[in-house]
Amino acid sequence: MGLDRRNFLKIAGLSALFGLGGKAAVDIFAPGELEASMEAVPLTEGKRWAMVIDIQKMDEELMNKVTKACHREHNVPDLGNPKEEIKWIWKEDYEHSFPGQQHHYIGDDFKQGSFLLLCNHCSNPPCCRVCPTQATWQREDGIVMMDQHRCIGCRFCMAACPFGARSFNWGDPRRVLRKEDLKKLNPDYPTNRDYPTRSKGVVEKCTFCAERLAKGQIPACVEAANKVKENALTFGDLADPDSDVRAVLRKHYSIRRKPELGTEPNVFYIV
Ligand code: SF4
Ligand code: SF4
Repeated sequence: MGLDRRNFLKIAGLSALFGLGGKAAVDIFAPGELEASMEAVPLTEGKRWAMVIDIQKMDEELMNKVTKACHREHNVPDLGNPKEEIKWIWKEDYEHSFPGQQHHYIGDDFKQGSFLLLCNHCSNPPCCRVCPTQATWQREDGIVMMDQHRCIGCRFCMAACPFGARSFNWGDPRRVLRKEDLKKLNPDYPTNRDYPTRSKGVVEKCTFCAERLAKGQIPACVEAANKVKENALTFGDLADPDSDVRAVLRKHYSIRRKPELGTEPNVFYIV
């Protein structure tokens, strides 16, 4: 099941090289510019889900709330050891969120702030290309899915993702399930009620709440954030010119993470 360390590092090195080989671009969209840039990204028929995070509206408390909502929704276990942390959505400092986009004159608020990160559901996802079992794949609507039953734990996808958006569950998620924890579980998350969490040794990540979208609901993080601050997070269909995400991107400047890698993230940050 495990990948030996030397091979794993080799793949990680290739992944870094992949990053260095990409096109260089400053991915800042002026109002209305997104439309022009989208011509370069072929959209499949139908939807192309995306999220917009309004940095001005997010604070530490709200980011914690949003993270809790996501992790509770998906029964993401807290194994109690930072080295075994499993994160579907998390906060990170400026340097690690937007490397290469720093300069001396950026305000302290920004430089010292935290930013909400999650899988970018990239239009050109390197993680999917390397998976030997197709346990991770991209749907027509752009969502990068994860089938934890097909995953063999090789972690190729983790090495290929340049955004650290994937976690490996080193410990058995079920070991944290005491009787009282069972009550806190979300029984609606599509898992077996008797074994409500996945097994040890598979990769975990955000799926844009695919299970909620199927029921016509918005992602749990968006719902939690917008209860506290309206439009802190906006979710919708980039392929629809009348969608909320398109409206908000038309109106505001936005950036994406590591644009020079050419993965075409579908998570945007209003700055
Ligand atoms: S952020 Fe990483 S895991 Fe998510 S689609 Fe992009 S490359 Fe894959
Ligand atoms: S760890 Fe799982 S999802 Fe990732 S590449 Fe290997 S089999 Fe595919």
